[in-house]
Amino acid sequence: MSNHKDFEAEVLIQSPGRINLIGEHLDYNGGQVLPAAINLKVKLHFRKNNSSTCNCYSKNFDAHFQFDINKVEVSEQEWHNYFLGVVHFICQAYPGKIQGFDCVVESDLPIGSGVSSSAALECGVAKGLDTLFSIGLTDDEIITMARDAEHHYVGTKCGIMDQFAVVRGKKGKLIRLDCNDLSFQYVPADLGPYSIVLLNTNVSHNLATSEYNLRRQECENGLKSVQNKYPEQTILAQVPVDIIQELKSSLPPKTYNRLLYVVQENNRTITASDALQAGDLITFGQKLFESHDGLSNLYEVSCKELDFLVEVAKEFDGVIGARMMGGGFGGCTINLVHKDSEEAFIAACSEAYFKEFNIQLSPFTVAIGDGVKQAI
Ligand code: ADP
Ligand code: MG
Repeated sequence: MSNHKDFEAEVLIQSPGRINLIGEHLDYNGGQVLPAAINLKVKLHFRKNNSSTCNCYSKNFDAHFQFDINKVEVSEQEWHNYFLGVVHFICQAYPGKIQGFDCVVESDLPIGSGVSSSAALECGVAKGLDTLFSIGLTDDEIITMARDAEHHYVGTKCGIMDQFAVVRGKKGKLIRLDCNDLSFQYVPADLGPYSIVLLNTNVSHNLATSEYNLRRQECENGLKSVQNKYPEQTILAQVPVDIIQELKSSLPPKTYNRLLYVVQENNRTITASDALQAGDLITFGQKLFESHDGLSNLYEVSCKELDFLVEVAKEFDGVIGARMMGGGFGGCTINLVHKDSEEAFIAACSEAYFKEFNIQLSPFTVAIGDGVKQAI
């Protein structure tokens, strides 16, 4: 592996990042989401090495690690666990199929910025090993094994949306996904003259993982409180708003806010998706702004940098919608910006952001691309 520069791959996998137009923090609450795969991706080069040793090298980190295929366990280095976790779950389901391999990873996705470089990596590893060793995994298996790797090896109790979008993404399509039963529908990403602009705050507050897992817990506990009176309510996102409001006085104020956000966001996502399909882009964009309000004030997963950028977007002519995207506490905002205003918007945001925080903003416009696939 010291000569990874002349690495000759048997299999090359391209695994994209994802965006989510609306429906944030809903996947683990059984709600509606509207993600898509993007044109930025991780490339993973694989080859067999006829040993029991597995070598993994990340160009982005310029770092390498190795492990024995017969001794897979959680590592203290976070990034190792995306590989180790996927290998573990494949070996559990298909013992003896994976043998020693070399893998080189390079990525033009921003890492840790809410476009799910993590799911891109996990799903890319799963797809690559599946192809290299002719295992025959289904898309559903790749999605769940990648998710399980993130839960049990990395320690983020993520929902299913990221892996689903990375695997099932389709060029030019959004995925209208019901995370309760995983039924989905492709919706044309007909945004007319509007581009999808991501603004990367380049901050990643270290609250992200702990607060993420805490929100999950708060939602689980909140649902239990709802069920004390309404045992038939089993899916938080589907609880009627009236019930949440009725229970307000019996719930801790923060729990109430979390639950209210979830049910409102679910309704918003349905309204927004319907509006988009009816060609009403203004309503669609408005729902993105409302989503941000809820994420910031009720669900409390935003931060001052994200709030600032959404405020700038709100004031800017030509922007019809904006919100934070992903788990929160940093990462990107997603903005729907008229093509004629794109350059001016990016310049204005970059300048205002630098002035306010002394941090360089990383803007990028994304297109909607295909899900994980083999390129060689
Ligand atoms: P996001 O998924 O939004 O990008 P996460 O914190 O969930 O943010 O995942 C980022 C982590 O995924 C990184 O800290 C690293 O452990 C791993 N990762 C992503 N891309 C790469 C890469 N190219 N090389 C090595 N590790 C990567
Ligand atoms: Mg992630």
